[in-house]
Amino acid sequence: MIGKDYYQILGVSRQASEKEIKRAYRKLARKYHPDVNPSDESAEGKFKEINEAYEVLSDPEKRKKYDQLGDNWRYAEQFSQAGGQPQGDFGRGYTVFNFGDFATQTQGGSSGSIFDELLHQFRGEGFRASRRPRKGEDIDYPIEVTFEEAYHGGTRLIRNETEDLCQTCQGSGVISGQPCRTCGGSGRVIRPRQIEVKIPPGVKDGTRIRIAGEGKDGYGGGPRGDLYLVVSVKPNKLFERKDGDLYVEVSVPLFIAILGGEVEVPTPKGKLSLKIPPETQNGRIFRLKNQGMPYLNDSKKGDLLAKVKVMLPSKLSQKERDLFLELKSLSENNS
Ligand SMILES: [Zn+2]
Repeated sequence: MIGKDYYQILGVSRQASEKEIKRAYRKLARKYHPDVNPSDESAEGKFKEINEAYEVLSDPEKRKKYDQLGDNWRYAEQFSQAGGQPQGDFGRGYTVFNFGDFATQTQGGSSGSIFDELLHQFRGEGFRASRRPRKGEDIDYPIEVTFEEAYHGGTRLIRNETEDLCQTCQGSGVISGQPCRTCGGSGRVIRPRQIEVKIPPGVKDGTRIRIAGEGKDGYGGGPRGDLYLVVSVKPNKLFERKDGDLYVEVSVPLFIAILGGEVEVPTPKGKLSLKIPPETQNGRIFRLKNQGMPYLNDSKKGDLLAKVKVMLPSKLSQKERDLFLELKSLSENNS
């Protein structure tokens, strides 16, 4: 396989189930999260890699394509959409872009610019095409949100570094034959900036939120790339989340389980009253419609699944013991 082995990155086998992939991702994402490893660039790189691998392997469609085409799948897909044929010289063409002039352009990761180059080359426009205006690279920005933020949505101030065209040399890196002093000859300067970003309700692990035009500066007057927030959601003690549905355990006193009654169920919006019918068994699940997580960019919500946990009485009084004994002999006589 050419390029990255997403299975190896997540440390799972090629036959791994969706669950195994998710578990491996969560574990690694927590370990390499930039909040845990401030100013450790290798951890940040690793975190991006993990997210990239998870984005592909957690999506059955993408995973299938990746299994067939390897690292090229994304480009192959775009290429075929653009009317080309992803066969033949494709693999070789791609490899070319890992070398020489193009090596510097691959660091943005998921950016379209490598692909643009590829297209130009396949169309016979050759390497000169690279001097045409091009969109800047995209930036991946890992962000960890709480369960509450994932439910309600919210805003965050994030510090982002953008790479801008050096104004002194207009990006050429050279002034009167000398390397530009402002940018050290790279033609680009790093500009720290703070931006407010919106976190929409319903985000989950691996969600990518696009902030248009906040990526790296374009080339030759081309538009800026985009910024992608790569979301990981902190687990919640109370609720277990499966896509839109939430699972919660509800303690039900023995007498309510046997005789029926009402209990309180925690939901992300507060407590709800739940009717328990008589003779409710331990482990029974009640589905509370539309009380789960919101879906991303959708007005629909998942359900809340409340699982009954019957609480047995303890520290019985003598009288209570006697009554249970009486119940016992009753049930023995009945059967
Ligand atoms: Zn400069």
